[in-house]
Amino acid sequence: MLITHDTECALSILVKLLNTAPEVCGAERLSDVAALDAFVVRQEISEIDSLTEDDLRRVHELRTRLREVFATESTAEAAELVNSIVAAAGTTPRLTDHDGHDWHIHYFAPHAALGDHLAAELGMALAFILVAGERERLRRCEAPDCARVFVDLSRNRSRRYCDSRTCGNRLHVAAYRARQRSAEAVPSA
Ligand SMILES: [Zn+2]
Ligand SMILES: [Zn+2]
Repeated sequence: MLITHDTECALSILVKLLNTAPEVCGAERLSDVAALDAFVVRQEISEIDSLTEDDLRRVHELRTRLREVFATESTAEAAELVNSIVAAAGTTPRLTDHDGHDWHIHYFAPHAALGDHLAAELGMALAFILVAGERERLRRCEAPDCARVFVDLSRNRSRRYCDSRTCGNRLHVAAYRARQRSAEAVPSA
């Protein structure tokens, strides 16, 4: 699949953002401006100054719209969503090599508000996935009690769980125990 390292980084931020939602975590992980600020620092999102309640509200709204892309049934449907997300952000692509990084493109307008910054960067990362014909890599975890999303970047598109160490293993353990129980329930001949 032809996606750049920068797109991969943006997709990683996208997944982390979507998985902060209350419908995923049981509680809002980005519950206040301080939590949003910590997210920006942790994800090394550049050119962000001070954040406000308005930024928080807009990031929550954006998160809902980005998550809808993972629920689409066709590339046409996904493209329409991505187009409207990116258009609303007002992008201005420009080359940069800030902070010792290799040359890469920033899609957000200089010093854009966080909501617009993320809409441009994460929207474009989704656009590249769609252009590569890889919408089906945008997945929701198959564990029954898990609402997390992930982007399957495995070579053979075989990933089914958000995090194989938790959801994948948990299911294996549950299936093993179920087999044990039914084996015990069978009366011996
Ligand atoms: Zn950058
Ligand atoms: Zn999961």
